[in-house]
Amino acid sequence: MVTTWHDVLVFCASLAGLFVVGDLLSTMLYHVPQHIWGKLHLRTHHDNTRSYWEHSIVSVDPAIVLDGFLGALPYFVLAAVLTRFGTAATAGALLGLVLGQLHVMYRHTCELGWKSPAWLTRAAHAVGLVLPEDHNGHHKNPDADFGDIFRFYDAPARAVIGAARTGARRQRRLQRLREMRLLRRRSQNIAT
Ligand SMILES: [Zn+2]
Ligand SMILES: [Zn+2]
Repeated sequence: MVTTWHDVLVFCASLAGLFVVGDLLSTMLYHVPQHIWGKLHLRTHHDNTRSYWEHSIVSVDPAIVLDGFLGALPYFVLAAVLTRFGTAATAGALLGLVLGQLHVMYRHTCELGWKSPAWLTRAAHAVGLVLPEDHNGHHKNPDADFGDIFRFYDAPARAVIGAARTGARRQRRLQRLREMRLLRRRSQNIAT
């Protein structure tokens, strides 16, 4: 089989696409909705009573495995789509899935004593890559540090969650006003 520059480009685009688009889909379609309406992710991924290394990497608790699977599902679907673009795209997508899984392990190593050297922190933050310390920030504070692989999904994720919470608060206020008006009308009807 002859490998051409075109194949190399398709391979790299597929690999990068799996990370960039996969993280976007997983953050916006699973992680953010879970933080707004869900319970599964908050009960598992943000359970401060157990070790995050244990729960993210070695646990076989069905709820924890389900949370991990649902978070990874957008990457799997995207990889399946990429396989339609030929052998080079398939190879890029498969390598992306393997590296993505390695990054899951890597970003949970803070409890094992991992400390990023200053040069790595500078380099990773320059390209927006999530380091174990960043992801640990999300475990400690569920309202901060969104994004599986890239930190640039943090701001849009927080904006969507903030807008949803404001909308929910407004809905509750309107509901209370409606109920008060109804009560007032009822008491006026009784008085007349
Ligand atoms: Zn985690
Ligand atoms: Zn979370």
